[in-house]
Amino acid sequence: MNRRELFTVAAALPLAGAATAAEPRTYKRIACEEAWITPAILAESRKLAKAAGRMTFENGMTEGPYIPLLLDLGESRLAGMDAAGIDIQLLLLTSPGIQHLDDQTAVALAAASNDALAQAVRAHPQRFAGLAAVAPQDPKAAVRELERSVRTLGLKGAVINSHTRGAYLDEARFWPILEAAEALDVPIYIHPRDPAPALDGAEIPGITVGWGFSVETGTHALRLILAGVFDRFPRLRIVLGHLGETIPFMLERIDNRYRFEQRLFSLPKLKQAPGDYFRQNFFITSSGMNVEGPMTAAIKAMGPDRVLFAADYPFEDQAAAVRDAEAVPMTPAARAAFFEGNARRVFRL
Ligand code: MN
Repeated sequence: MNRRELFTVAAALPLAGAATAAEPRTYKRIACEEAWITPAILAESRKLAKAAGRMTFENGMTEGPYIPLLLDLGESRLAGMDAAGIDIQLLLLTSPGIQHLDDQTAVALAAASNDALAQAVRAHPQRFAGLAAVAPQDPKAAVRELERSVRTLGLKGAVINSHTRGAYLDEARFWPILEAAEALDVPIYIHPRDPAPALDGAEIPGITVGWGFSVETGTHALRLILAGVFDRFPRLRIVLGHLGETIPFMLERIDNRYRFEQRLFSLPKLKQAPGDYFRQNFFITSSGMNVEGPMTAAIKAMGPDRVLFAADYPFEDQAAAVRDAEAVPMTPAARAAFFEGNARRVFRL
C-alpha cells in the first residue's frame, strides 16, 4: 500500500467500515465529470458578462474561487486528486462550454480547447482523459470536430451542455452529431446549463443549479427518447450526471403515463417504452449526488453496470465525494464497477 492509498483508506475508515479498511484498494477511482476551462473561453465569457452588466449562468462562470481551479490542468489539480484518492479525472469543458458563443467563435474555441485538452492528457496519460467540446451551433463543424477529436486527439467522446440557444438535440438538424457519435462508438455526455427559454420557470434564483439544471437536462434526455432518436441510432450512448437528472426515480411513472397518453391521444408509438431506452442507451454518474439513499435507488433502477462515479470538481469537494460514495453499501464487484470498470467500458479508457 503506498502513502496515498493508506491516506485514502484511513479517510474512508469511519464510514466504510473495517472490511474496506483492512484490504488494500483493488480498483482505481475514475471521476467522470470533472470541469476545466481555457483562458480564451473565459475571456469570451467575460466580454459577455461585461455586456450584460453581471455574471450569469447563461454566459458562463467568469469570477469566483473556482476560476483558478478550472484553469489548472497541472500539479495543483493532481495534488488535489492525490489527496482525495482519485486516480483519473475525465475532463469536460465547464458549462456552458462554448454553446453561449457566436458560431464562428464557438467552432474555433472548441477546436483550440480540444487541442489543449489532448496536450494535458498527453502530459499525464495515467491521470487524465477528456471529452471533446463540439459546437452544435454548426452541426457540420461539430461532426468534423468530433471525428478529429476522437481519431486524431484520442478524446473519448463529446460533452454537450444541454440546449444551444434554446434548441435540443432532438431537432433533426443536430442528428448528424448523434450519428457520428454512434459511428465512432463514443458517448455524448449531456451536462446541464441554465434552463432554456422553453423551460421558463425552472430557473429559480438559489436553486437554478440544484433544481433547474436537472429539469433542463432531464427534459433534454426525455425529448431525445420521445423523438425516436434511439430507434434511429440504437447503439448511441448518452451519459447524464447527477444520478440521471431525476429520471431513474421516475421511470415507472413515465412509462405508465406514456402508455396512458398514447391511448388517450392516439400518439405515434416508439418501438419500446421510454424507460427501456433509458436503461439501454443511458449511463449515469454520481456527480454532486454521492448520497446513499438516491445512489442505492439509482443503482437499483439502472443496474450496477450503468452508474459511474463522478465528483463534479471543482464545484464539489472531491475528497468528500470519494468518502461519501465509499460509504454506500455495495458488493466488492459493484464497487469496482462503479469506481472503475463502468467508466472504462463506457468511455473506452
Ligand atoms: Mn458538472
